Amino acid sequence: MEDYNEYKERKRFYNSKSWENVRQQVLKRDNYECTWCREEGKVTTTGLEIDHIQELQDRPDLKLEPDNLRTLCKACHNKRHTRFQYGGNQFKPKEIKWKDERW
Ligand SMILES: [Zn+2]
Repeated sequence: MEDYNEYKERKRFYNSKSWENVRQQVLKRDNYECTWCREEGKVTTTGLEIDHIQELQDRPDLKLEPDNLRTLCKACHNKRHTRFQYGGNQFKPKEIKWKDERW
């Protein structure tokens, strides 16, 4: 199975014909607008990218599922991934191997 933590696997995926097809489908569904901007009453139709709601590396089975995809502009996409990193940090393994044992 592909490991989408690998840059080259992600790149291969984003270059695939099936991705291009589903990308077009999602763009069309979202009316070629950023869905987050639209929620704020703005219309952004430039710099559009397709975002995986459940990350590619976490749910590769949903990678071509339109319900897991949405159109974001570059700015919103960046915002989202910054946010994701913050969220991600909270899920870092809690247990640290150094036990606070006194000798
Ligand atoms: Zn946007």
